[in-house]
Amino acid sequence: MQRIVLATGNPGKIREIRKIFADMDCDIVPQSDWGLESPEETGTTFAENALIKARHAAAQTGLPAMADDSGLVVDALDGRPGVYSARYAGEDATDDENVDRLLHEMTDVPEQDRGAAFHCAAVLAFAEPERAPLVADGEWRGTILRARRGTGGFGYDPVFLDPASGRTGAELSREEKNTVSHRGKAFRALRNLLQDAPTAGS
Ligand code: IMP
Repeated sequence: MQRIVLATGNPGKIREIRKIFADMDCDIVPQSDWGLESPEETGTTFAENALIKARHAAAQTGLPAMADDSGLVVDALDGRPGVYSARYAGEDATDDENVDRLLHEMTDVPEQDRGAAFHCAAVLAFAEPERAPLVADGEWRGTILRARRGTGGFGYDPVFLDPASGRTGAELSREEKNTVSHRGKAFRALRNLLQDAPTAGS
């Protein structure tokens, strides 16, 4: 069975990604099992940052490694906060502080212009430098509310309205969110790429 390193320490992500890859002959092991931490994310795109993390884990372990990077892209803010989503209100900002900044910046944005999307890049990098990485992405479109709704999720979930269900990310169950979310879509696409790359999964 092929071992694949997962370049994240987030237990929720590990569980979800294992579920998505459950029907494949691979064992997904978090990078913390090697005592590894993620390098600094210096990229200007989600794919670049995911690649930095996956390549680092692959180089350190000698195994294929997966990583993801995601964030919120707001139409009325020219794509901000984008790759800076986690630190929008400052380097050590909390989710609450980031949401407050977003709501403040969007105070004057009318309902019809409040569109936004979560994006996620999911990458699988190989330890052999000559082997091209697999890159997939996923998008979840919605709108930004004027106030928080719901208690689940994390990050910008309480102010992100999913149009199909009429609920915010913080009002959806974990299962429901994974079906529609950017991350679920990106990792399901990555799994399909891996399935089509015979030598990668065997
Ligand atoms: P990461 O790359 O998955 O760590 O996400 C970076 C940042 O984007 C997070 O700290 C959140 O602020 C935001 N973000 C990414 N995915 C989500 C989501 O599913 N819901 C809410 N916020 C998210």
